[in-house]
Amino acid sequence: MTGLSDKVILITGASSGIGEATVRELAASGAKLFIGARRGDRLQALANELGANICWRELDVTDAADFTAFADAAEAKFGRVDVLINNAGVMPLSPLAALKTDEWKRMIDVNIHGVLNGIAAVLPRFVAQHNGHVVNVASVGAHLVLPTAAVYCGTKYAVWAITEGLRQEHDDIRTTIISPGVTATELGDDITDPQVAAALKDWRQKSLTPDAIARAIRYALEQPDGVDVNEVIVRPTAAN
Ligand code: NDP
Repeated sequence: MTGLSDKVILITGASSGIGEATVRELAASGAKLFIGARRGDRLQALANELGANICWRELDVTDAADFTAFADAAEAKFGRVDVLINNAGVMPLSPLAALKTDEWKRMIDVNIHGVLNGIAAVLPRFVAQHNGHVVNVASVGAHLVLPTAAVYCGTKYAVWAITEGLRQEHDDIRTTIISPGVTATELGDDITDPQVAAALKDWRQKSLTPDAIARAIRYALEQPDGVDVNEVIVRPTAAN
């Protein structure tokens, strides 16, 4: 295992759920963290709680210029960027026939363009320094299509493919896909279809807590530079 105390790590979607748990897990490793999301009040509270190695900035991942400014601010603060964790995501599930086209667009904007904007913000740095690590949070929904989740799973299949493509193009940059199973977070709280919202409540009866995903992310980061953990799938068992 390699220590993370000299690493500068960017984390998106850090204001709740898996992102927040990852901030807590990595803060304990001594890494320098630059954390983003739209709800600055939550980021500020987290940074205040966890100490001086954590800086925050409001970030909308759908805005490419904002993401580049976010990465620039991290480099200005800490001197370099070593890792990007593209974690931000949304999941307003519905059947296709409901034609919730605005929700489809939002999933594509956040879950796909958000990841691409993050890659664009860090890749020139990683290429120049012949080193870097992109961790993209996908889902078990990157491997199978679940009812009412055609568009969401489509975005996660895309995250899987984009990450694999990045791996193939750069053998000095590490890439990790983290594919969580059902995890108890705020994801899906914005589902507008009452039947789908009720189904999600049922699925959540057996769910992981977000710290389980945070530990998987830490495991991938702590490998030596010559070891690239390309995907970790984490599912709950009946013990939950
Ligand atoms: P949460 O809803 O708790 O967290 C989602 C995070 O994404 C929030 O911090 C939110 O912050 C952020 N976010 C949403 N839109 C934007 C945006 N436009 N710009 C910046 N940040 C944004 O859900 P999870 O923690 O569960 O989700 C984290 C990731 O895990 C997602 O990619 C999700 O798809 C994936 N995942 C989750 C599973 C689960 O069962 N929970 C299962 C499989 C995958 P804010 O609103 O402040 O901007």
